[in-house]
Amino acid sequence: MSLKDFFIALSENQTLNSAAQKYGYQLGAQTVVAGTNIDEVVESIKALNAQGIACTVDNLGEFVFEKSAALAAKEQILTVIERIHSENLDAHISLKPSQLGLDIDYDFCYENLKDIVALANEYQIFVNFDMENYARLHPSFELLEALHAEYGNVGTVIQAYFFESDDNVERFKDYRLRLVKGAYKEDPSVAFQDKVDIDRKFIDQIEYHLLHGKFTSIATHDHNIINHVKQFVKEHDIPNEKFEFQMLYGFRTDMQVSLAKEGYNFCTYVPFGQDWYGYFMRRLAERPQNINLVTKQVFNK
Ligand code: FAD
Repeated sequence: MSLKDFFIALSENQTLNSAAQKYGYQLGAQTVVAGTNIDEVVESIKALNAQGIACTVDNLGEFVFEKSAALAAKEQILTVIERIHSENLDAHISLKPSQLGLDIDYDFCYENLKDIVALANEYQIFVNFDMENYARLHPSFELLEALHAEYGNVGTVIQAYFFESDDNVERFKDYRLRLVKGAYKEDPSVAFQDKVDIDRKFIDQIEYHLLHGKFTSIATHDHNIINHVKQFVKEHDIPNEKFEFQMLYGFRTDMQVSLAKEGYNFCTYVPFGQDWYGYFMRRLAERPQNINLVTKQVFNK
């Protein structure tokens, strides 16, 4: 088992997830999670906004198998939207359909999403559907299309590692899209496994959406890709209003600030909440060196 597989397996472990909620933040998650409640995350957003950085706010949540948990998540997200509006924050919402009940009942999930998108629409706040594993991809796209037809303020993520991702970039070219490499462990029958293939697809899709699509969020910590994009937009006269860079809270913070200072739109993905364990383990799976973040926290107390 590779280290990546090991951390992915941990991220999917429900017992450890519950234990982590009980024992709080001790594993060092506070470096990459912007607070455990709404007041804390609002402070983190204000600090980023003060540096010219926008935010996309994710109320962390996994393993939602009960309607009550999905409804609680919905209420939490509605409160975040109210706070973004009332405090005039430069921020929008990221959410995962599974957290709003996708694994329980499609129509129930649709109603929950609709309440969120409708309120955000009233305040002209954008809502992004994060993309999860392959089994949830097509149901999530269907929900997205239904809500996009009714409200314009929704978009999604295309994960470059899927074989079908070129088609999906084309299918959603009129949407605001976040383009990523892809974070989950996927079967070789549906997704590229090699970094070279994934990077190539990722670059192709970024270029395509920058040239033909609506607004593009380029979500990566990969400086080679970022430098490539900078060069590409210059050569093709693509204005800064057409795209932004995104990174996760707590990663390459100096680069986040310097990209914003250079005049690029920059948006930090700001996760918060009690349910941080799975998120944290996936970050370790992507880059085991991130474990440095953990050890620093544990030993520098
Ligand atoms: P990698 O391929 O991990 O790294 C490439 C190179 O960049 C590394 O070799 C190293 O040289 C450098 N590098 C990377 N990280 C660091 C670091 N911390 N410090 C120093 N150097 C570094 N995935 C999904 O499946 N669904 C989603 O909805 C989703 N949303 C995302 C939102 C945002 C804002 C971001 C940033 C990512 C999201 N992801 C999502 C995760 C994404 O799919 C990748 O798994 C993740 O970003 C890792 O790939 P990477 O492009 O950052 O670079």
